[in-house]
Amino acid sequence: MASESAIATDPRLSDSALRSLVDGLVLIDHNGRVAFWNPRAEELLGWKTDEMRGQTVSEMLDRIARRANAPAVTRAHLAAAFLPEAAATTIDIDLLPVANHGNRVAQVHVFPLCDPAAGQLGTGVLVRDITRERESDAMKSQLLSTVSHELRTPLASIKGFATTLLRQDVKWDEATERDFLRIIEEETDRLAEIIDNLLDMSQIEAGALRINKEPTQLRKLIREAVDEMRMRTESHYFVVDLPAELPRVLIDPRRIRQVLHNLVGNAIKYSKGGQITVTCEVENDHRGDLGHVVVSVADQGEGIPPQYLDRVFERFFQVDGAATRKVGGSGLGLSISRGIVQAHGGKVWVESTVGQGSTFRFTLPLASNEANE
Ligand code: ADP
Repeated sequence: MASESAIATDPRLSDSALRSLVDGLVLIDHNGRVAFWNPRAEELLGWKTDEMRGQTVSEMLDRIARRANAPAVTRAHLAAAFLPEAAATTIDIDLLPVANHGNRVAQVHVFPLCDPAAGQLGTGVLVRDITRERESDAMKSQLLSTVSHELRTPLASIKGFATTLLRQDVKWDEATERDFLRIIEEETDRLAEIIDNLLDMSQIEAGALRINKEPTQLRKLIREAVDEMRMRTESHYFVVDLPAELPRVLIDPRRIRQVLHNLVGNAIKYSKGGQITVTCEVENDHRGDLGHVVVSVADQGEGIPPQYLDRVFERFFQVDGAATRKVGGSGLGLSISRGIVQAHGGKVWVESTVGQGSTFRFTLPLASNEANE
C-alpha cells in the first residue's frame, strides 16, 4: 500500500509521461511564461526547450509564427486563442520544412489549465502532426474526382449509344446496330476494369492483397499473356525472346498475368507502332541464394522524361493526364503492378529515353526445387 501511494505522488512519473508524449506539449504558467516545452514540441516547432523556457507568450507566438508558411496570419490566429476570455481553440498551421522533414501540418490546440480550487493556473498548448491525415484527405478527394471522371466517360458513351439505338424515328441498318452494340460492350468492359483496379488498389493499400502461389511455367504464361494482347493492336509487332530452359517459379499466375497485361498494354498505348519486345532472363544470385528471373517489356514509343521514372509507379500519376485519358488510362495500372510484384518479393523499375522508348522490368524470386515439386 505504501509503495502505491509513493507511485501516485512521484512527480517524476507524470513529468516523464509529458516528456515522452507523441504530441508536442507546451505549458504556460500564470505569469504568462513558458514553463514546459517537451521534446516533441522541439521537433515539430523547431525551437529547443532551453531557448523557449521563460519566454513570454508574445515571444513564443512570434517564434512559432516564424516557422509557419503564413507567419502573419498564423500569429494573429494564435494571439486570438491566447486572449484572456478565449475558450479552447484549435488552429491548423502549415509549417515550413525543417531539418530532414518536408512541409508538415501541425494542429495546435490551445486550452486553459484549470484547477477546481485555484481557478486558471495557466494555459496548455498541444501540437499534433496531422500531415498524414491531410495527405490522406487529399488522396480521398483525388480518388473521388478521378473515379467520378473515369466512370463518367464510359457511362456517357454507353448511355449515348443505347439512347441512339432506342430512337423510334430512325431505322439503323444491321451493321451500324452491331457497331453501336460493340461499343457498348467495350465500354462496359472498361467500366468493369476500372472498378477491378480500384478494388485491387484498395487491397494493396490495406496490405490485404491475396496471392495464391503455385509452381508455374513462366514460359507458357508469358506466351499466353502476349498472345492475348497481340489481338488488341494492328500497328505493333511482337518479339518474344525466352530462354529454352526456364525454371518454374512460385507465383500467383493470375496476378502475374495481370502485370504482363498492364505492361504490354502500356507499351501498346504509349507507342504509335513498332516493335514490342518481351524477354525473360534468369539471374543467379552470387550470395548463394536461389536467384530470380527478370522479365522485360520494351517498346519504341514516346518514352518517359527522367524526372518521372519513379513517379509513374505512384497511384494516379500520369505523365500527361489529358493525353493519357484519351488512350483510356486511369493511372492505376503501374501502382497495382508494383503492389503485385512486391507481394511476390520482387521489384519493378523502368529505363527510358524520350523519343526512343521505354523498358519496364520486374523480378520474381526463383522457387526452390522442393517448392517446385
Ligand atoms: P495509365 O492507366 O494512365 O496507363 P499506369 O499506371 O499504367 O496508368 O501508367 C502511369 C503513367 O505512366 C501513364 O499515364 C504514362 O504517362 C506513363 N507510362 C506507362 N507506361 C508507359 C510506356 N510504356 N511508355 C511511356 N509512358 C508510359
